[in-house]
Amino acid sequence: MSRALLVVPPLVKYTAGPLLGPAMLVGAARDAGHQAEVLDLNIAFIRASGVPLDGARSAVTGDHDKPREALRRVDALFRRQLGLSGEASGRVADPIGSAAFSLELVQQSAERVLESFGASICEALAKQAEPEVVGLSVLFGGQVYWALAITQAVKEVWPRAVVVWGGAHVTAIQACLSELLRAAPSIDGFVVGHAERTFVELLDRLADPARWPASVMRRERQGALVRAEGDATVMPLFDAVALYDRGRLTLPVQMSRGCSYGRCSFCTYPAIEGRYDPVSAHLLQRHVVQARALGAALSFKDSLVDGQRLTDFAAVINRRVRWSACTKLAPSLSWRLRELGERGCDTLEVGLETIVGSSQLSIDKRQSWQVFERALEASTSAGIALIVNYMTGFVNEDSVEARAGVERVAHALRQSGNRGRLEVNEFQLERLAPEAGRSHLRITRTWPWASVCDWEPIERRRLHALVG
Ligand code: SF4
Repeated sequence: MSRALLVVPPLVKYTAGPLLGPAMLVGAARDAGHQAEVLDLNIAFIRASGVPLDGARSAVTGDHDKPREALRRVDALFRRQLGLSGEASGRVADPIGSAAFSLELVQQSAERVLESFGASICEALAKQAEPEVVGLSVLFGGQVYWALAITQAVKEVWPRAVVVWGGAHVTAIQACLSELLRAAPSIDGFVVGHAERTFVELLDRLADPARWPASVMRRERQGALVRAEGDATVMPLFDAVALYDRGRLTLPVQMSRGCSYGRCSFCTYPAIEGRYDPVSAHLLQRHVVQARALGAALSFKDSLVDGQRLTDFAAVINRRVRWSACTKLAPSLSWRLRELGERGCDTLEVGLETIVGSSQLSIDKRQSWQVFERALEASTSAGIALIVNYMTGFVNEDSVEARAGVERVAHALRQSGNRGRLEVNEFQLERLAPEAGRSHLRITRTWPWASVCDWEPIERRRLHALVG
């Protein structure tokens, strides 16, 4: 038997509950007879910053149920302490949140974190039973600074512990991992992809490094990259739910990996999650029982739950818990919504992305305004909050047309009286997105710890000249 500790570094701007990835690894490790715990330094950081939590939840369920204003203050504090300039770098809207800096600057920020918080990180670690493996769960670039600081603190507190980083961000920067292994010697390995099986194999064979799974990417193997094997049927275990925002408590659940659509050119889900792989809806039953016992809502983390699966999940849940999910607009969605609402669905998130025709073509996601309007009307009458994700700044997009699109969607939402919201983001070019390989743009800059790149459009005239 081996002992593992999974650590969540700040800052993930979410308070409503534990993260799924570490809980899956805990579930997989304990199933295999090992010991594993989660140390969530993210929620500890948020609570230590004095943000009032535990009040009433907002009007929605899921990722958007958060104390926004309070988290904005925590985020500002978090950024100040990193000592980095937050000025935009080319088209990268949030260099700090993306870790879009040189290796040296990121390392300097990690050292600042250690100066300010090293003693409290070490104290929090020392309260745990000594683990043989420490897993760092890194979802976003903004967690890298603390993850580096925590890695160094682990080596001080438990010099023999093996430190392995995983999570969506590690998968997203896979092209740089060899370089990062050389630059950050305290990191013993990276795991790319879903790691439930790899993690258990590592714990099983810990005593003999020569037999560690090939999917733990290490210096000793010259950074050879083998994607890890997941196990989506593992039951995640959530131990310390009392730490989270009591008024909002929400458990994550994921019933498929990958995306059943998988074509949007800006999106990295298919590359990060792998091919579409759903698990049977009947496995949802145990998650509903767990959430109900804890008085929690359920939030589906699937990149996309299609209409039929929403109906199947609603039948299993059948009002026992409040729940939320992401789905794709489709003509059949509107006639399903009443039943979903009756069976506890509180919030649906849809990626409308853009209503600008040329941008829809460019990103390969065509959706009609009429379908959106019908879904908005039906969700409002079913009492379901609709979160509408929208993006501007696509390659060669007309900014006036883009702005008009935002206004039109915002107006429709206001008129509908739906309690959901419009979330507008600026297009960011991700290394693993299909868009990064397209000929209408040129990547002008990358950073080793960042999944996003800077880019410039190739003018159509020049493109025509290039392709003859
Ligand atoms: S944007 Fe949504 S629908 Fe498109 S590929 Fe990504 S997850 Fe799938």
